[in-house]
Order: sequence, then C-alpha cells, then structure tokens
Amino acid sequence: MKYLIIYAHPNPLSFNNAIREHVEEALKKQGKQCSVRDLYLLKWNPVLGGDDLSLAGVEKTPADIKTEQQYIKEADVLIVIHPIWWFGMPAVLKGYIDRVFSSGFAYEYAAEGIKGLLSGKKVMIINTTGGPKESYEKFGFKDALSKVFKDGTYGFCAMEVINHEFLFAVPTISQEAREEMLAQIDKLEF
Ligand code: FAD
Repeated sequence: MKYLIIYAHPNPLSFNNAIREHVEEALKKQGKQCSVRDLYLLKWNPVLGGDDLSLAGVEKTPADIKTEQQYIKEADVLIVIHPIWWFGMPAVLKGYIDRVFSSGFAYEYAAEGIKGLLSGKKVMIINTTGGPKESYEKFGFKDALSKVFKDGTYGFCAMEVINHEFLFAVPTISQEAREEMLAQIDKLEF
C-alpha cells in the first residue's frame, strides 16, 4: 500500500506540522511507504486559471498539475492534514483540489451522469479546529464538514473516506492535552 500525505499549513512550528511528523513516524514504524506533498513548501499555485480549464483532459495538462496527478495515481491512501479555516479547508488546499482533481482525471461526465474516476483509493482526513467539540456538535459543524468532504469532495471522485479525525480547540487546550492528541495519532492504524 502506498500512502500520500497532502499537508496544508504555512508554519513549520505549527501543531499541524507536529501531526504530520507523527503520522510520518507512525507510517514508518508500520513499514508503510509514504510520500508527502507540503503545499506551502511547494509554493503551490492555487488559482484555477482559464488555461487549466481549457487544457484539462487533453494532453496539455500543465506540468505542476501533472506531477500531482501522478502522485495521486500512485497512491492507495491519501492522508490529508490541515486546520479548519472559515469552516472549510485552507485556500491553498482548496486550490489544489480545484486544479488537480480535474475533469477527465478525477471525474468525468458520462451518459449516465457524473462518474468518479478515483475508485479504489481511500482517504483519511485529520483536521484541527479553534472551536470546541461541544459547539461543533451542537451546531452541526462537524457533521456538515464531514458530509462535504466525504461526499462532496473525495466521494465525488469515487474515493472512500475511511476516517475523519477532528482535533478540537488545539490553541486553547493544555499542553498535556495536545501531547495526548499526538499520542492518539501515534496509535492510528494506517
Ligand atoms: P498552532 O496555532 O500552530 O498551535 C496551537 C498550539 O499548539 C500552540 O500553543 C503551539 O505552541 C502548540 N504546539 C505546537 N507544536 C506542538 C507539539 N508538538 N506538541 C504540543 N503542542 C504543540 N477555527 C474553527 O474552529 N473554525 C473556523 O472556521 C476557523 N477559521 C479560521 C480561519 C483562519 C484564517 C485562521 C488563521 C484560523 C481559523 N480557525 C478556525 C482556528 C484554526 O482552526 C486553529 O487555529 C488551528 O486549527 C490550530 O492548528 P495550528 O496547527 O494552526 O495550531
């Protein structure tokens, strides 16, 4: 099984970076092969341009998109790590999905309707939040985000979301609580 970490956080000292390091370490300990796409380090261009649209599906896919599509093609499991910003994903990741999960690669319009093209691939999502678990549950934000990511994004491309972890309120909980979260990451089965 090949694993691909797609990581979106600008700060190398962030808690998200600690999560990424723990995931990488856990995969290594479990003998799993993994590649990492750090979108800020890559200086990923998130803006879907007219050229991207007109060239999608023909043999002129821009080189940066082609590279990422090759990583995704080769992966069995995508592990997507990012904070929740404005109740969604950071813009750089949204733009990665806009450009890389293109028509003809991730989905296609078929006679019977829209068809996902990435079936067989699995997705794990790890999200951090500023807000507490109680309000995410009380106001339905947790279910809404899970639904949108699971069915609206990855499921649309026929990928299966096998786990969606939320690590709540990380800026305001204690250092011990954050360390416990990282210990839980170490125990995840990949
Ligand atoms: P950081 O701020 O990097 O770190 C949090 C704490 O963890 C810090 O004290 C840091 O020192 C500590 N830390 C770092 N490494 C370790 C380690 N190895 N072990 C233990 N502790 C460590 N939240 C919402 O809930 N909903 C929103 O809609 C929302 N919108 C936002 C929009 C924007 C533009 C921004 C900037 C934030 C938003 N937030 C929102 C808050 C955001 O989700 C959280 O700030 C983020 O998830 C915290 O993760 P981080 O990696 O950025 O944490």
